[in-house]
Amino acid sequence: MSIRARLALWYGGIMAILLVIFGGALYGILRGSLITGADRTLDETAAEIQSSARRQISLTPFNWSEVVTLPPLDVFAASDVFVQARQLSGEIAAASANLRGRELPSLPDDSWRQVLAGQIDVRTVSVEGTRLRLRTESLFVGDRPAGVIQVAISLHSVDEALQRLLSLLLAIGGMGLLMALLGGAFLARQSLAPVVRVTETARRIAATEDLGERLPAPTVQDELGELVTTFNEMLDRLQRLFQSQQRFIADVSHELRTPLAAIRGNLEVLQRGAAADPELLNESLSDVSLEVARLSRMVTDLLVLARAEAGVHVEHRPVELDQLLLEVYREARHLSRGVEVRLGQEDQARIQGDADRLKQLLLNLVDNSLKYTPAGGVVTLSLGRQDSWACLSVSDTGGGINPDDLPHIFDRFYRGKDNHRRGGIGLGLSIAQWIVQEHGGEISVASGPAGSTFTVRLPLLEMNE
Ligand code: ADP
Repeated sequence: MSIRARLALWYGGIMAILLVIFGGALYGILRGSLITGADRTLDETAAEIQSSARRQISLTPFNWSEVVTLPPLDVFAASDVFVQARQLSGEIAAASANLRGRELPSLPDDSWRQVLAGQIDVRTVSVEGTRLRLRTESLFVGDRPAGVIQVAISLHSVDEALQRLLSLLLAIGGMGLLMALLGGAFLARQSLAPVVRVTETARRIAATEDLGERLPAPTVQDELGELVTTFNEMLDRLQRLFQSQQRFIADVSHELRTPLAAIRGNLEVLQRGAAADPELLNESLSDVSLEVARLSRMVTDLLVLARAEAGVHVEHRPVELDQLLLEVYREARHLSRGVEVRLGQEDQARIQGDADRLKQLLLNLVDNSLKYTPAGGVVTLSLGRQDSWACLSVSDTGGGINPDDLPHIFDRFYRGKDNHRRGGIGLGLSIAQWIVQEHGGEISVASGPAGSTFTVRLPLLEMNE
């Protein structure tokens, strides 16, 4: 069942319950007060009869009895009030003329006995299809019952009024219910319209694969407005991700092609006889080894990325950071093309971690610094300790990072706007960040026109551990 139908049914259901409670209460109260009114009339009539009955005790030689003389009962009768007197035996003694020969019903034996004992019995009975409210009570002479009077009032007008109210309630209730259902369906349709639009757009996007499509911006920021905004934001992200994936594939193939072409070029030069010239041989070989190193770093990056995506975690073994830094320093000197690589402060520091990944982290940072620092510049590696942290830093004297790029440089596949032709696929820093996070540390960058400094803080391994 659709949400729309469910909402409409809910509206209708609640409305129906309210109508039933309201109508029931109204009906009950009215019925109660009408019956009470009828009972009051009976009460008053009976009281009048009681007060106008003459009571006397007659003595005969062998017996004595209580004698009650009633005034003519028609005095007490009205168009819908009937009066009847019975003897103690139950026999009818007198009746008002408006009964026209019919009789007010007697009571079952036990009720009759209770009436003779002095109780008043009020009940609703039916005589020839007419509903009557019947009051039965005894006439006492002294403390002995001498007869029974019965007063009844027709409930015809009460029933009629109640019947009319019931029809009215049913009519109004039915209409109210119908309106609630229709109104509920309309409201649900109105408020769910944006959801329908979202669904349609999503379906269209799925069919056409056009991630550029957006929903019109919501005019009100209610829950559904938020849904539209969120949906659009999600599309933004998807589109960016999709584009960066596409760019990534193009970049990777491009980046792989450049070093491979350089290697092939060098090999061809060697084939053509350059191997005979020690100087040329040396130059070609160092060129080749440089490109191979870059290639292997790129492939390692991609591999790490794939592992990180698959949720693989790094090893945790004790690592001497100072030795690692020295290793990276030596490798970096080979990679530096005209940039001086220096070793700054070098404290001893042991941490728990994965030596290969940590080396890759440093190499990525150093590689960036070398890449973005013009010949003649300086790249400095250092390792210090601060409280329980080891602080590795790589700083350079390059042109710094463009402030527009700064918030994004750790994003996957993000490359500085001006650096598209310098090589690199925008993975180095995001992988560096992943490695740092895996070691429970943090990475930060400070950058200005004079150069950039990347600082990595990693938790030190306690000496006694
Ligand atoms: P890339 O493969 O492009 O180097 P990274 O993730 O390593 O990717 O770096 C992202 C971007 O950060 C780079 O494109 C560059 O714009 C900027 N960047 C990183 N390191 C430096 C640095 N030392 N100096 C200047 N810019 C840098």
